[in-house]
Amino acid sequence: MQFISTRGSAPPSSFSDCLLAGLAPDGGLYLPQTWPQLTASEIAGFKSLRYQDVAFQILSRFTRDSFSDAELRAAVESAYADFDAPDIAPLTEIGEGRYLLELFHGPTLAFKDIALQVLGQLFSRALAKRGGRATIVAATSGDTGSAAIAALGGLPNIDVFVMHPRGRVSDVQRLQMTTSTHANVHNIALEGSFDDAQNIVKLLFADSKFADQVGMTAVNSINFARIAAQCVYYFTATAKLGVPVTFVVPTGNFGDIFAGEAASRMGLDVARLVIATNANDILARTLNDGVYASGQSHATLSPSMDIQVASNFERALFEASGRDADWTAAAMSDFARTRKLELPATVLSELRGRYSAFACDDSQTRIAIAAIYKLTGRIIDPHTAVGVSAAMRMGKVASPVVILSTAHPAKFPQAVTEAIGSPPPEPKRLSGLKNLPERLEILANDPALIKRFIFSRLAA
Ligand SMILES: *Cc1c(COP(=O)(O)O)cnc(C)c1O
Repeated sequence: MQFISTRGSAPPSSFSDCLLAGLAPDGGLYLPQTWPQLTASEIAGFKSLRYQDVAFQILSRFTRDSFSDAELRAAVESAYADFDAPDIAPLTEIGEGRYLLELFHGPTLAFKDIALQVLGQLFSRALAKRGGRATIVAATSGDTGSAAIAALGGLPNIDVFVMHPRGRVSDVQRLQMTTSTHANVHNIALEGSFDDAQNIVKLLFADSKFADQVGMTAVNSINFARIAAQCVYYFTATAKLGVPVTFVVPTGNFGDIFAGEAASRMGLDVARLVIATNANDILARTLNDGVYASGQSHATLSPSMDIQVASNFERALFEASGRDADWTAAAMSDFARTRKLELPATVLSELRGRYSAFACDDSQTRIAIAAIYKLTGRIIDPHTAVGVSAAMRMGKVASPVVILSTAHPAKFPQAVTEAIGSPPPEPKRLSGLKNLPERLEILANDPALIKRFIFSRLAA
């Protein structure tokens, strides 16, 4: 299986090359040259398999040129060994054909663990074969940083630098990152915003001398391996219910919901994919008005979705254009210049055939948390609540509705308290975190300084 770039001017790559690179050299995102196909009876058979076995079946379609079956099996088993739920992504009914797909039972209590745990395992195996070291530099608004540290901390030949904006992540999120005891984990509290941190990562990537010297790479959702790992729960949830499903997906960078499109292109019968956004509603406006235009970023109760430019939307545009790489490359460069893109009628109607979109504000988020609590006694997190709010406004549909539940409520006690008057109970994984020593370096928003810091830690 070869991987190609959405912008068409990168050479086709093997799975492990695209895993280790993250972004394609032409600035595009990797996708498989052709989507592997699963038959209806293979998919139905997933009902009786363990989650890990379904993950192996699906991932092996992508990874065969780079990993043996034994290597992939070992990677998948290690990835999910530390999950709290025996079936990894349990489905729970909340009434009237509506379900929550619980994706937060991993080490850092958000769905990022499901893909990053696999990615960490594959990364260290790919590096061991290729030789050399890798330096991961990530900017985080909270969940990606902790999941990357949990997945990559302690692995050989990898250093992980995570930059979070100082004082702008929740206490739980900061402690999950800074209490790691692994020597290869380096936390930077940046005197700046998330955008400043992301900008520094981009500058370091663009500095090819530096990037080559340290073996810099990316683990955010532009990395196709994350999409591949996230397809799996669309298959397991559908196999459990036995009929096509409408999936409602709390969306920021469009990685999680694009995994649903990927599953459908691989043969899964999906009724519909519903994009649920918070007040950062660029994707809802795109689907409804046909214009992709980034606006002012708003801070909301669901911070992991406070994103104006959804990187993975490029993958959906490439597919919706009939894989027209020239058009995609031109559209992306126009958008970078003007922050606005009018979608051609054919692309828009292709997207509308697959996706619907609803946006909700913070008050609707609180209402959804309170409504589910009243109805079922369950406490949901504010990101899941954005999905529930979309499902509440969607009207009746014939298929079962599965809302992806992307984080544990205990990561966001403030939002929960605002909605139901008291905080969620603290799970075992978070207890005692407050008493552990923290390791972090507070650094000014200065790329040269960050570079020197990275060099000094790598030399140590
Ligand atoms: C990252 C994240 C999302 C958004 O996922 P995307 O793949 O960026 O669309 C939603 N909820 C939570 C809790 C997250 O951490």
